[in-house]
Amino acid sequence: MTAKKSNIQTTIAAWEHDPGSGNSPDGGQLIQIPAPDLSASGFPTLIENPAEAPAPQLYKIASAEFRYWAAAASLNRASEFWSNQVPGITWQVGKVLPVDLYHGDDLNAYYDRVGLRFFQGNVGARTFYSGESPDVVCHEHGHAVLDAVKPQLWDAASIEVAAFHESFGDMSAILCQLQVPSMRHAVLLETGKTLYRSSRLSRLAEQLGWAIRQSNPTAVDPDCLRNAVNSFFYQDPDTLPSYTPGNSLSSEPHSFSRIFTSAFFEGMANMFKTKPLQDEENLLQVSLDMGKILINAVKAASVVPTFFSQVAVNMMQVANSLFPKSNYVQALKSGFLKHGIISPASSGVFTLAALKKNKVVLDLDHSSGSELPKLSLAVHEYNLGSDNIVVHSAAEVKHFNVAGANLDIGSMEAPAEDVAAKSFLEDLLRRGRLKLDNTVQGSAGIGSQFYAQDGHDRHTHELRKDGKDLILKRLRIDCCFHR
Ligand SMILES: [Zn+2]
Repeated sequence: MTAKKSNIQTTIAAWEHDPGSGNSPDGGQLIQIPAPDLSASGFPTLIENPAEAPAPQLYKIASAEFRYWAAAASLNRASEFWSNQVPGITWQVGKVLPVDLYHGDDLNAYYDRVGLRFFQGNVGARTFYSGESPDVVCHEHGHAVLDAVKPQLWDAASIEVAAFHESFGDMSAILCQLQVPSMRHAVLLETGKTLYRSSRLSRLAEQLGWAIRQSNPTAVDPDCLRNAVNSFFYQDPDTLPSYTPGNSLSSEPHSFSRIFTSAFFEGMANMFKTKPLQDEENLLQVSLDMGKILINAVKAASVVPTFFSQVAVNMMQVANSLFPKSNYVQALKSGFLKHGIISPASSGVFTLAALKKNKVVLDLDHSSGSELPKLSLAVHEYNLGSDNIVVHSAAEVKHFNVAGANLDIGSMEAPAEDVAAKSFLEDLLRRGRLKLDNTVQGSAGIGSQFYAQDGHDRHTHELRKDGKDLILKRLRIDCCFHR
């Protein structure tokens, strides 16, 4: 359980942003903070495993007691940040989000509409705990926040929507890091106040990145799991391979997410530059403003196959509405243009005059509800036990006529919803993520060949009976750290 409020202030030790540092699994900075009360914010969490909270005090690194309070500190940091941005919203799972710090042996963490699950994984003689890293905890917590705010993304049959969920996790980790005073101080020193530089802020989950590289050296970045400062340029995800080494782009959601995260990070760095002083106070203010812009834009964005560009233009719209005297719109626009998320050819939509004319207001949700429209997809060629399946299609009415950039000139043509859905399904099949019932499909079916290769259930989706139909449903958002 959580620390009870009392007159005696208890102090715990936790990681500032990660137990690792750069290309080392160690070297993360420790901070000391008052023991958090996980029930106190508008997004309460509860650590259910372990069931008993150790007495709040300073513990040695690598002890179970230290890990408990390190995880609690991260959960509290993320819950405080997001509940201030979107007050009054509750978790998809109910009032309190359960957290399991020791869900099994694996280098993994996931969110599954039951709670947050963290794992312990061995590399050589050493055990790593995914719940120990603030970057990982705030990333998973971000999935749950996004699911609370925009539940219709959960079942969307779209590569870009799945990738946005991953990007939101990373953006959440970055924004939550900036709530730590020592982090703001250190990142300004490390980057010379030019935020869009590789730094401890942009390098996410250094320790887990190291752990993965020990068995798969090219799977991730050389000094972290993912770096928010990168030069990936938008491409149609349907045209990308399902897997590539970490230094190139694939349609795998974590890989593809890096485009949006870097455009966001560059936009935020530009916002910081617009401030008269590049100091810690303004960095904190920019992180709070960015949180508001991002979450309100997500709420308003139409769910379509080209979801990145819809969120981007809504971010400019919200920035213009909430901060009309700032230069945030220009700052964000530069980031999105540079990474190809929006094309110069669609710039008529997001000129200041057009944004002012558009009466989009905060809290407006263009979605039709908590579920996306259903679409019947012909799938006879996959031997799935049915010639047709039903999917939740990213087929909401597109509110802004924007698109990503072509590699030569102009805007990319958005794929039709059924093409995007089929591409998403094929990706799931290639990556062994679709759980199939062998009694329906036969033991030699396409799903069975991938089943639990290493003893772990890696499935993210299943085909569920829905009356006479088979419907594609998400089981979990798996942030599996080794591929
Ligand atoms: Zn994730």
